[in-house]
Amino acid sequence: MTKDILFNFTDVQLAQYLEKMGQPKFRAKQVSEWLKRGAPNFQVMKNLPESLRKQLDETATTLPCEIVQKLESSDGQTTKFLLKLNDNEVIETVLMRTTYGNSVCVSSQAGCAMGCKFCASTLLGLKRNLTANEMFAQVLTAQWALRGGSDMKPNGDFNNNDVSHIVVMGTGEPLQNTENLKGFLERANHDLNISWRRITVSTCGIIPGIIELTEWGRPINLAISLHAALDPMRSDLMPINNRYKINEVLDAAFAFSNKTGRQLMIEYILLGGINDSIKCAEDLSALLCGKNCMVNLIPWNAVAERNLIAPSGNAIHRFQDILIKNGIHVRIRRERGADIGSACGQLRIKNSA
Ligand code: SAH
Repeated sequence: MTKDILFNFTDVQLAQYLEKMGQPKFRAKQVSEWLKRGAPNFQVMKNLPESLRKQLDETATTLPCEIVQKLESSDGQTTKFLLKLNDNEVIETVLMRTTYGNSVCVSSQAGCAMGCKFCASTLLGLKRNLTANEMFAQVLTAQWALRGGSDMKPNGDFNNNDVSHIVVMGTGEPLQNTENLKGFLERANHDLNISWRRITVSTCGIIPGIIELTEWGRPINLAISLHAALDPMRSDLMPINNRYKINEVLDAAFAFSNKTGRQLMIEYILLGGINDSIKCAEDLSALLCGKNCMVNLIPWNAVAERNLIAPSGNAIHRFQDILIKNGIHVRIRRERGADIGSACGQLRIKNSA
């Protein structure tokens, strides 16, 4: 028997549900408060009678996802949650405790259809889009862990135990699921008070989706996964480039950035011996020269099935130096949680950690 997911109920539906169980009217408010806080089960709802908690456990669940595994990185700063959805698909969510706040990396799809040559998330193809609630529940799951679990150390520099940043950079292509993405972000902004400026959406460059975000007009950060400055190489690495070419993607992305006033983020994975040469750095500089953007260099993280190598330390710094010399803003992304398979591009449906 499939259980009812109370998180998906409206207030009215929840009230009716509890009334049918013979509960007084005020119960709905109590349960709803717990659901908003991301309660993982009914047992934690200590202000409900034991018998009701038991009864609810038999017929219902709280969130539309359930933690099946929780992995902590060795430095204690990164937690990866493996979450099972009600149709048994498994997704991954990553919580990163940083000096500037607590950031959650959210998955937008189970699996991914994009077929990028360097990424683990796409190996088994796309299973399905996630609902807005399934995305929101990932944030609440991280928030619950931050606030509650005694195994969680508060961050030294940042004492607030709330999620402060959201990055939609987990499994999946968010702009293939734009409607649900927008619904999710509206809710995160409204219910959790996470400001638009602390939300980042990363895309491989789906132009209609970028246009939709521009029309939506919320001042979130947009990140474009570029990874190559010339079309032939990008098409080799990312099949989506056969459909949407570099210049068109950047035009759409800069239009978003002009409308929202947010600086565009360009992500560039460095793949050893492929796109980390001096020429590639010069090509990228020429492409972005004079544009309002920040380049994030991401040294490739190992994915066993992919026949690729990470760049050398020298190549990383050489690449960065060339961009700087050419007046491009650039940062090297610090990888988090590579030891638990939670770094960029390592998230997948079937956990292998
Ligand atoms: N589909 C979206 C969201 C995924 S974001 C997108 O393409 O942007 C995940 C980021 O990690 C992307 O920039 C992606 O290109 C990058 N990435 C994928 N595999 C990686 C790997 N093995 N090492 C480092 N970064 C990787």
